[in-house]
Amino acid sequence: MARLSLDELTAEWQRYLNRFDELTREQTAALAIRHRQELAGHFYAAMLQHGEAATLLSHDEVKNRLNSSMQNWISMLYSSQQSTEIQTLIAHQHKIGEVHARIDVPVHLVLHGARLLKERLIELIREQLPTQHRPAAASYAAALIDLAMEVMSQAYAASHERRSRAEEGYRLFAVTQNMASEKEKQRAALLNWENQLMFDHAMGLTAEQLPRLRSSEFGLWFRHKGAHGFEGAVETGLILDAMTHIDEVLLPLFALPQTADAQHTPMQLLRDLREQSKGIAHHLGLLFEQNNELESGRDTLTRLLNRKFLSVVLSRQISYARQAGSSFAVLSIDLDHFKRINDTYGHEAGDLVLQQFASMLLNQSRAGDYLFRMGGEEFLVIMVDVNDQNARRAAEKFRRLAAAEVFRLPQEATLHVTASLGLAMFTGHPDYQQLLRRADAALYEAKHSGRNRLIVAAD
Ligand code: GH3
Ligand code: MG
Ligand code: MG
Repeated sequence: MARLSLDELTAEWQRYLNRFDELTREQTAALAIRHRQELAGHFYAAMLQHGEAATLLSHDEVKNRLNSSMQNWISMLYSSQQSTEIQTLIAHQHKIGEVHARIDVPVHLVLHGARLLKERLIELIREQLPTQHRPAAASYAAALIDLAMEVMSQAYAASHERRSRAEEGYRLFAVTQNMASEKEKQRAALLNWENQLMFDHAMGLTAEQLPRLRSSEFGLWFRHKGAHGFEGAVETGLILDAMTHIDEVLLPLFALPQTADAQHTPMQLLRDLREQSKGIAHHLGLLFEQNNELESGRDTLTRLLNRKFLSVVLSRQISYARQAGSSFAVLSIDLDHFKRINDTYGHEAGDLVLQQFASMLLNQSRAGDYLFRMGGEEFLVIMVDVNDQNARRAAEKFRRLAAAEVFRLPQEATLHVTASLGLAMFTGHPDYQQLLRRADAALYEAKHSGRNRLIVAAD
């Protein structure tokens, strides 16, 4: 089903509300709001019994914040009646779904929590509302929770899908650092399959024994990696179709008695095969040539990673650190008064400075660290497996080296640049956005307290 727009969802939500009379809505809202603390308490007590949920909720900040957000959620859910309030409410459910996807909360846990809330609320309705009002109130109470869950899961699914695609892209990107050599390797693998096929055929192997393209080295690579990396390109579909045609149509024809059909003499079949295989090689070449997603994982000016893979790398670091009990740090860097450099020396000089700064970062960081150009003159370093003392030392070293670096411009000109830095240590919080926000806030403080300095974010 196509996703509904915000307006459509709001209208749908409004229609739903209108099915219940005002008294039912008011009574249920009053009851839910009056008992919101207890409902949130009930919810967390039950969730903490659940091993999987307990790990996610173990961080103090999560524990404290979530209890009050749960109370707000309950009030908001039952008190939003006007269309602007409903819009806000829906947007809010959307955000929650995205957070869940980001920190990998399993859907069944969310639904489990929703069921707990529903049960408790219906119990309260039974205990406290007059008998004749109970059925309507109970179905209203449940309907709103269901609606909220529906919107939440939509956002969850969309953002999970995006993330899996980015993960896959990243995996492929990580294994194919060098596009040119990957291209040659896969071309050769395709030719190998073809040679093997010709040889096996000449040796008199049966149609069934002939090597299938899909399980050849090329076939495996293309189906598992190439097709994902080149997802969306027409050529990808063409290659997959040609592979199926070869394996399922052409190769079985080798089993036919030679005289059966003049169209399918072995010679003709081999010619068809060669045509198909040439077609695949051609499309593969085009795929590699197109400035594809893989290459775009790196920033073209500095060759650092671009922000596209930031979420993937951070999510992995978080789950790694949580499992291994290790730590890592995020360092946000912004060059100082960079506009002046462009204004004084020109944009090209600015570009050279950015390149030189990036290679300084690259030379001075450890091989396991991740370096991103976030855009403009903003960079981000993920330092893996560090404690706060070492992270601070490394960040301070970057600051010092940047200030000391002599940036070379054309015609022997040189200049100096400084940088402001914000450092945030991983605290155990499962959401990487929180980590980025802390690093950015620290950077902001570094700028506003005079630039050319490092500020470390509080835990
Ligand atoms: P601040 O110390 O507050 O960071 O000052 P700033 O001048 O660096 O301010 P700001 O971050 O707002 O501006 C960054 C400037 O960097 C804006 C733009 O002119 C320049 N810039 C952004 N991307 C590029 C780029 O790719 N090449 C060059 N040469 N300049 C860029
Ligand atoms: Mg900037
Ligand atoms: Mg700047």
